[in-house]
Amino acid sequence: MALGLAVETPAPAPAPRRKAKRPAKPQRKWLAVHALAVLAATAVGVMYVADLMRQPAAEAALAATVPLAPEVRAAMPSLKSTPPMPLPRPAQNIAPPVDDDLPPWRRYAAAVPAGAEHQPRLAIVIDDLGLNEAAARKVADLPRPITMAFLPYARNLPAQTLNARLKGQELLVHLPMEPASPSADPGRNALLTDLPPAEIERRLDWNLSRFSGFVGVNNHMGSRFTADADAMTLVLRKLAGKGLLFLDSRTAEQSAGVRIAAALGMPHGARNVFLDNERNADAILTQLEKAEAMARTRGQAIAIGHPHAQTIAALRDWIPAARRRGIALVPLSSLVKAPAPVTVASR
Ligand SMILES: [Zn+2]
Repeated sequence: MALGLAVETPAPAPAPRRKAKRPAKPQRKWLAVHALAVLAATAVGVMYVADLMRQPAAEAALAATVPLAPEVRAAMPSLKSTPPMPLPRPAQNIAPPVDDDLPPWRRYAAAVPAGAEHQPRLAIVIDDLGLNEAAARKVADLPRPITMAFLPYARNLPAQTLNARLKGQELLVHLPMEPASPSADPGRNALLTDLPPAEIERRLDWNLSRFSGFVGVNNHMGSRFTADADAMTLVLRKLAGKGLLFLDSRTAEQSAGVRIAAALGMPHGARNVFLDNERNADAILTQLEKAEAMARTRGQAIAIGHPHAQTIAALRDWIPAARRRGIALVPLSSLVKAPAPVTVASR
């Protein structure tokens, strides 16, 4: 090291001058080499890019005109290396395409899960919806298909019901009707037995005009109104004419709803089980088990619940478990009795 230093030490004096003259040649030489290398690399790059741009177009043109054998297609590098583009998820299970030729009870029906016709089928209807928008969103987020019945006098119904339909749920109008108890208030524009027929019709039209995309109607309260055969005939005839189904909530044992709907030949059903007359988890589970047992013995059952936190929580756990036991959750429209094919009348 000392030797090295000794040898190198004298050198620095002339170095600056030499450096000024000598580097000229090697620099020019290296510059030329660099320029050549850059030129070559650019040329290769341009050819490569041009090739890349040309190749897919040529292949696409070829593929469009000449049917290629699978092995030929597989041998083409760019086609082989390009993974197939994932298609957008099919929307038909969420909000089926609308067929204007069908009556609304079929036009707006939610999709029935595949294979449901071979299983015990259960429709879960949640009504009294719309006043608590957060609760309606939670019901809409339950495993589909839930049938969701909205009160017509609630606010922001077009947005609330559209959200439900986009989540794959089915819609009903929860039609306010007169209860037997005078202390219970069925709400604005409720159907009352002592109203003149024209006013009942006007109120019915108002209740059916608040949102769209519903398959039919179930009664809110109505223990008095549903027991009145004349009033029910007036209302059900109008609903039948509009191609809507009727679900009798059966708030009264003496309801004339099912008998008149059957006589009119309109699609109809009746509630079998109320899920949450008692608002606690154990009681709700007991009712769900009752509904499941009924679906197994009769082939189908209709349960009605309400947007209480306890009911929503119970359904969130119970639905997947019931499915594993072979129960098919179906929309109400798939369980209604429709004696004859119903077509939409002129009004
Ligand atoms: Zn109700």
